[in-house]
Amino acid sequence: MNPLSLNTNIYIVDDEPDQVNMLIEMLSLVGLNAKGYTSPALFIEQSITENDIVLLDLNMPSMDGIEVMRILHDNACKPDYLLMSGFDERVLHSAKQFAEAKKITVKGTFTKPLDIRSFISFIESLYQKKLSSLNIFNKLHDTPESKLSISLDELKQSLKEHRFTLFYQPKIHLSSGRSQGFEALIRLNHPEKGLIFPDQFIHLAEQHSLISEVTNEVVTQVIRDYHQFIQAGITPNISINISAQDLMNLNMPERLESMLKKANIAPHLITVELTESSILSSVSDSLDILSRMRMKGFPISIDDFGTGHSSLVQLYRIPFTELKIDQHFVMRMMTDDEAISIVKICILLAKELNMSTVAEGIEDQNTFDKLKELGCEVGQGYLISKPLPLNSICAWVSQNKQTLL
Ligand code: C2E
Ligand code: CA
Ligand code: CA
Repeated sequence: MNPLSLNTNIYIVDDEPDQVNMLIEMLSLVGLNAKGYTSPALFIEQSITENDIVLLDLNMPSMDGIEVMRILHDNACKPDYLLMSGFDERVLHSAKQFAEAKKITVKGTFTKPLDIRSFISFIESLYQKKLSSLNIFNKLHDTPESKLSISLDELKQSLKEHRFTLFYQPKIHLSSGRSQGFEALIRLNHPEKGLIFPDQFIHLAEQHSLISEVTNEVVTQVIRDYHQFIQAGITPNISINISAQDLMNLNMPERLESMLKKANIAPHLITVELTESSILSSVSDSLDILSRMRMKGFPISIDDFGTGHSSLVQLYRIPFTELKIDQHFVMRMMTDDEAISIVKICILLAKELNMSTVAEGIEDQNTFDKLKELGCEVGQGYLISKPLPLNSICAWVSQNKQTLL
């Protein structure tokens, strides 16, 4: 078989539309021509060449995979096959034997549900082509430069004087409009300069190993504020953001758990958000900490998904419960084909891995409607509400009470 070329078509023939859509998106993003068919009858009418690859489900209600291979063979169509089946390996094995008897080329067999990561690496090794699967999401991302407009001394002083405050941004279920919770976003309250945004001091705190103190401020405030939410009549889920350096502190799960326990707040109410790049910096410690967090009952969210370097691998290794599609893609999805492809694949991936999807950065109704149509569960963005200080968020809560119960 020739190495994969631009002319190679990969046909996916499977009666499950979700599976087909995901594979098409995935293979297209790594630069292959993927076409999908949920109807084997329709598929066999295509003009398939010997350069093509057919990823074929053996168990389909209208026509099984063996019959598909037989019909194509009788029509002198000789693509390479990759077979998959939800049944045990013996079904695959006997189908392979049938193919061998007919001199039909079967390059590999897979059990369903398909493990996408190993499927992609299989294709890579088989066709000697390095696919850019682990970097597929990088294309559209340009990292903004962080502006360091406060000094280290000012930051230290602010920590000493607890000059931080949290703003809360609502997240809602797109289908019902009901509240799903709030993301806590930190601001520094400077006596002369006013409110300072996190992109101006988080990086500085990280550079000088002060981030665990910042995180400590966040948790302390969330606990304090949580009682006001309770007084406003709700027990929302609150998401907090943590940094790479928090993942090096091995007793972080226990500390968080004990602080919340003292305040009578159950772990399932506090979601921990972290970005892919924060995991990359210390993979084994991250795995240790995040697995223990999960075991203690904290939901874990992968933030800014699509902007890091090893999205797929991280998703498999770490027990995330939520995937947040980076706002960069959400903001461009109505005008940019690549952005919408990435949004779609994020939704499909999350579904496949039993994670909920959150789209952040929703600024207009068309984007909101499209995300809802694509099956994204939760949305966050200026269209719904900007991040608000605690007193305004309590007013927002009472205004939207009927949707918050
Ligand atoms: P993030 O976690 O991705 O948070 C979302 C950011 O997007 C917030 O900016 C929010 O105000 C903004 N945003 C939300 N919806 C929209 C929208 O529709 N349009 C636009 N243009 N922007 C929207 P913010 O509060 O400035 O936070 C920036 C980043 O700082 C956060 O990004 C997060 O990475 C970091 N950060 C915030 N709070 C904390 C914290 O407590 N600890 C740590 N370690 N990092 C934090
Ligand atoms: Ca976040
Ligand atoms: Ca984010």
